[in-house]
Amino acid sequence: MSEKQLSGGCACGAVRYETAAEPVIVAHCHCRDCQRASGAAMSTVFAVPRAAFRCKGPTSTYATPGDSGNPVVRHFCADCGSPLFSDVSVLPDLQFVRAASLDDPAAVSPTMHIYCDSAQPWGKPLDDLPHFAKMPS
Ligand SMILES: [Zn+2]
Ligand SMILES: [Zn+2]
Repeated sequence: MSEKQLSGGCACGAVRYETAAEPVIVAHCHCRDCQRASGAAMSTVFAVPRAAFRCKGPTSTYATPGDSGNPVVRHFCADCGSPLFSDVSVLPDLQFVRAASLDDPAAVSPTMHIYCDSAQPWGKPLDDLPHFAKMPS
């Protein structure tokens, strides 16, 4: 098994995280919550087993309802505001992490676009990766 370490953090350096786990999901997310949280057309996120995720430094959080009505808790740096990672209550064993917060964002490779229903006309997927209207089951 490869032991590639993924590490990252916020823009000001107050929050750092690391994981030795291989991502089980890497996706471009076009949902409105990701758009609002990032100020951009989409967020690229990866998910790793939560037990293998370590975060150093305090985060602030807020919650928005997911598809199921169950909360998605989004963690960000209270000092610089960088969005960092999310707890999706319907997938409690996974930690969803913003790929752009990695020290080396190219270390992960997205395999799909999700929540394309809310993709912006100026932010449509331009590659050949699979598209899903919402979250694939
Ligand atoms: Zn920060
Ligand atoms: Zn999203």
